[in-house]
Amino acid sequence: MLDLSLLRDSGSFSIDCGSPRLALVHHGFRTTQLGATDKRQNKYAARYASLGLLNLARSAQVDFERGLIPFQPEIQYFDEDNFTDDVELAKVISDWLRPVKARFVLVSLYSLAFERTKNMLSNLNPEEVCIMVGGAHPTVAPEIDFVHLVARGEGGNALRHVLSLFLHPEFGIGNEASGLCFMLDGRVQMGEIVFDKSLEDIPSPAFSYELIQSDTSFAGQSRERWWKAVGKSQQIYICTQSCRARCTFCSTYLIHGKLVSRPVELIAGDIEYLLTFGHDSVQFHDDDLLQHESLYELLDLLSKFNIAWTCNARSEVITPELAHRMYDAGCRKVFLGVESLDQRSLNYYNKATTVEMNINAVNALNGSGIGVICGYIIGAPHDTVESILSDLDRILSLPIYFLATAILTPDIGTIEYRRALRRIPLLQELGNDGTKMNIRPRPEIFGTSAPYGLPTVAETISKEELNELYSLINCEFFVRREYINKMVKYTSNDRLGEALSWCSLQKLKAEELAESSTLALVQERTVQLLQKIDADYPYYGVLSEFAEDR
Ligand code: SF4
Repeated sequence: MLDLSLLRDSGSFSIDCGSPRLALVHHGFRTTQLGATDKRQNKYAARYASLGLLNLARSAQVDFERGLIPFQPEIQYFDEDNFTDDVELAKVISDWLRPVKARFVLVSLYSLAFERTKNMLSNLNPEEVCIMVGGAHPTVAPEIDFVHLVARGEGGNALRHVLSLFLHPEFGIGNEASGLCFMLDGRVQMGEIVFDKSLEDIPSPAFSYELIQSDTSFAGQSRERWWKAVGKSQQIYICTQSCRARCTFCSTYLIHGKLVSRPVELIAGDIEYLLTFGHDSVQFHDDDLLQHESLYELLDLLSKFNIAWTCNARSEVITPELAHRMYDAGCRKVFLGVESLDQRSLNYYNKATTVEMNINAVNALNGSGIGVICGYIIGAPHDTVESILSDLDRILSLPIYFLATAILTPDIGTIEYRRALRRIPLLQELGNDGTKMNIRPRPEIFGTSAPYGLPTVAETISKEELNELYSLINCEFFVRREYINKMVKYTSNDRLGEALSWCSLQKLKAEELAESSTLALVQERTVQLLQKIDADYPYYGVLSEFAEDR
């Protein structure tokens, strides 16, 4: 880690001389697995702010109002998309911070963008600017050598401690400092993962959306992916934290601990505030909105707002009655964590659902007029080419609006990662020289195909073969004639062009796959798919007819 003495000994840094400046830096978030899989898919990625940073900003404002920090912080949000490159971004941040003596850069560090964000931060002067990182990756892999401070878990308490006591003798001592990791005069202090329940009581609004209306942010132009979008102008929001489930591939409960639900009256204030910026729809980014402890009061509230919204959900609670109630409250799309229609895989993932629950949930949502975006995972250790193709056939028989397929990834820190560590010795090499320092995906060891820089765990199917199966699944799902009707039903007019171009891309990929696949079964199915399309209808002609009709 960068030694805090760099800042102390420079003589130009102090938190005692007036308002600190906090540069919230949104960087690397859009380095997605979608783009890592195929760069042509980058243009379909989402574009929205970091709720974690906006909540941290709000916490600091509330701390000042409550007299918990000595000075009112000045806060600015910097989104990398507003700058030509990282050098310009770092220069603008440095210039903005320079006039004050307490200069902080707060960044969420993402696994996939680890190297990119590291390079961006290397443009800042570590004797002038204190670099603090947080988020999922630093929480589970906190040994990072290019930052001054790492906050593990929720960052509100850690930031309060920093803004009150940074470089003071009491720094790093006490409850509020328990999540902080840093090095001072060569001595390293590693904090533990900190959970908090501040979402339960922080006054409305919980997120400082006003910060993303400026020139250095993206001026409120958040944009959801075409398949998840509802309404014309979306904003993201959460009112729960963590998840009661314990899926083996997920890290949310490691980072956030137990489920926290924000009271409905505070949610009302949050949504009122969010709507003042001209948005007409809300993307709930909660891990599972339906776990909110006052779900029915929440649905009543949303009905009164008369807005469209989407959310993520698990299968087991969804009944036709609940689905109708959600629709009546404005829900138009749900990302459903189905993951598989093979019970062995659901058990292996510790999903705590059954195939029957998944099927019932898809049918209930679709039957109520809600488009189902189906989270789907392939590549469990027991999977074979045949078992994956059988599962695909079951998936194709369901009324799903969008299939979001992923290859099982042993993400750093998860149970899946620990399982993989036992079987794949090379996984020990993710850090510098086999240590725990700078653990990150390593494309030079595990390749760039999905999962980027990490291995896959299927015992009889290689990573490249899983990628072939992944491509086949997308082609079969999106290039079917019957799919086009479903796509048109649930996609708004202003996003239909993107949806049609997505389908065209999948058709193109099917043609490439027919040429390049090494798995005989994949090639056979791809060739059959293309023959069927050509025999049934002129694919591109049908797509353009839909575009013209709308
Ligand atoms: S249900 Fe979703 S959010 Fe909850 S643990 Fe499983 S994958 Fe994570």
